Amino acid sequence: KPAPEFKVFEELESEVRLYCRTFPAVFERAKGAELSTEDGRTFIDFFCGAGTLNYGHNSDFIKFRVADYLAADGLAHGLDMYTVAKRDFLTAFADTVLRPRGLDYKVQFTGPTGTDAVEAALKLARKQTGRSGLVAFTGAYHGMSRGSLAVTGSRRARRAGGVSGQDVTFVPYEDGPQGRFDSIGYLERLLTDPSSGVEPPAAVIVEPMQMEGGVYPASAGWLRALRELTERHGILLILDEIQAGCGRSGRFFCFEHAGITPDVVTLSKSLSGYGLPLSVVLFRRELDVWEPGEHTGTFRGNQLAFVAATAACELWRQDAFHVRLAASVDRLDRFRAELDALGRGLVTRGCGMALGIDLGVEPPRAERLQRYAFDHGLIVELCGRRDEVVKLLPPLTIDPAVLDRGLDVLRRGLQSV
Ligand code: PMP
Repeated sequence: KPAPEFKVFEELESEVRLYCRTFPAVFERAKGAELSTEDGRTFIDFFCGAGTLNYGHNSDFIKFRVADYLAADGLAHGLDMYTVAKRDFLTAFADTVLRPRGLDYKVQFTGPTGTDAVEAALKLARKQTGRSGLVAFTGAYHGMSRGSLAVTGSRRARRAGGVSGQDVTFVPYEDGPQGRFDSIGYLERLLTDPSSGVEPPAAVIVEPMQMEGGVYPASAGWLRALRELTERHGILLILDEIQAGCGRSGRFFCFEHAGITPDVVTLSKSLSGYGLPLSVVLFRRELDVWEPGEHTGTFRGNQLAFVAATAACELWRQDAFHVRLAASVDRLDRFRAELDALGRGLVTRGCGMALGIDLGVEPPRAERLQRYAFDHGLIVELCGRRDEVVKLLPPLTIDPAVLDRGLDVLRRGLQSV
C-alpha cells in the first residue's frame, strides 16, 4: 500500500519533534519484531525503542504475567513501600544476573528513565569521593538532564541545554570517526601531570559500546586498561550499560566481554523486558553513602515493570532463549561479513545483536537507506555524529525468518543507495 498523505502529522506534531516524520505511519499493534499500522501496513522493527525491546514486542511470557498481576489488583504504584513485586524482582535479578557473575552490588531504583540512573550515578560518585570532576568520552551519550548532558558529547544537545562543560574532561573514545586514539595514555598524562589543569575526578563514565555515538564497541583490552588506570588513581569507574546492556552484546552486561568489575553500573531500557520504564544504578556495597531522602523521586521502581522484569529474568534463564540468541548473532555476523566483502565505502561495527553500518560522513546516504528501508517495510534508526550510521537492533528473540527478511531489505537498499 502506498503511504498515506502525511499532512495530518504536520498538524499534530510540535515543530521540534521530527521522529514521526521519519516513520510516517500511525502504529497500532506489535508482536515480536513486527509492527502494524492503523491502515494495515506491517513493518519489521530493527529499532526497538533504541534497545528497549530486547525481548521483542508483547512477549506472551511477560505480557500474561503483567496481565495476571493487574487482574489480581497488584499495586500499580507503591512509592516507598516494600512490595511483593519489588521483592520478586530483586530476588530474580540477584539470582539471574548478579550472583552468577559474582557481582555484589546494591541496587538503587531511580526515576523511570536512563537519564535518571546516570544522574544518580554521578551524584553518588561525587558524594562518595567528595570531588566534583568527571571524565567522559567524545561521542558519548548519557542523557538529557544537566548532569548527564554534561557528560554527553553532542555539541548540539549541550548547547540546547546551556551546558558549559565545567568539571568535565572529555577524552577521545578508543575509536571514532577520526580513527583510533590512545585514550588511556592521554588520560594517564592528564592525571599525573600537575600542570594539566585537571583535578583528580570523582569518576570516569563510559559506555562499553557507544551506541548513539555510532556503534563503537570498546575492545576488551581498552576497558581492562581503563579499569586498571581508574583503580590505580582511586577514581570510580561507571559503566553506562543502558543501551548496550541487558543482552544486546550477547552477554547480559557488555563489560563482561572484558572481564572487568565496574564500581557503578547504570541499566534501563530493556531491563523490564517489555518497554515499561525501569532504571537502576548498581554499585559496590561500600560506596553507599546515601542518607535517607537524599535522592528521591515519585516514579522510582515501577511495580508493573518489576513484574515484567521478573519474567524477563526467567526468560533469560531459559536455554531456548540463548540457543536462539546465539543463532541470531551468528546470522547477523554473517550478514556483516557479507557487507564487509561488498566494499562500497561502507564500514560495519558492532557486537552481538548490535550492528552499525557506517555509510560515511555524507549523511544523506544513511538517510536514504533508512528511507528505502521504511518504504520496504523495515524500521531502522540512524546514529553517529552526523547520522551517518544505520543502527540495527533487532529483538534478541527475533524469529530467524523475520531477521532474514529485514536483512534482505537492507541488502537491496544498499544496492540502490
Ligand atoms: N545512556 C545511554 C548509553 C543511552 O543510550 C541512553 C538513551 N539513548 C541514555 C543513557 C538515556 O536514557 P533515557 O533516554 O531513557 O533517558
